[in-house]
Amino acid sequence: MELDDLYQQIILDHNKKRVGYGLHEGGFPSHQYNPTCGDELTLTVRLSDDGNTITAFEWEGKGCSISQASASLLTAEATGMTISEFEAFADGFREAMRSRGQIRLDEEEYGDLAALSGVSKFVARVKCAMLAWVAAEDSLHLTRESLN
Ligand code: ZN
Repeated sequence: MELDDLYQQIILDHNKKRVGYGLHEGGFPSHQYNPTCGDELTLTVRLSDDGNTITAFEWEGKGCSISQASASLLTAEATGMTISEFEAFADGFREAMRSRGQIRLDEEEYGDLAALSGVSKFVARVKCAMLAWVAAEDSLHLTRESLN
């Protein structure tokens, strides 16, 4: 199997699997909309009692397979990270997505999220891949503000 085919398969699988799908009561959900493609996503980040660790991502949405797979993959790979780990992780992801095909996500660090590397070559689709991440950063911000 070619690498691109394998990556395509991971995206299709996660579009179906939807790890983390389902919003529960409470928390600080962030709703994001991508008008270019019509993708919608609402995501809530849950933190540990000490506020340092991400214990869960909960989300619901609809849209293209890239937008939905990105939310599922984000949940699968980033649950359990500390906030500073997640911030660095999200910065690296954003940098790769904006690189117009120059930076590929490292599989060692990003796991199956590396399947989204090819998206950066298609400028119009970068927002699809980023939607869940923008929602996660926003929800994280709202959650942390509430702790202060
Ligand atoms: Zn899309």
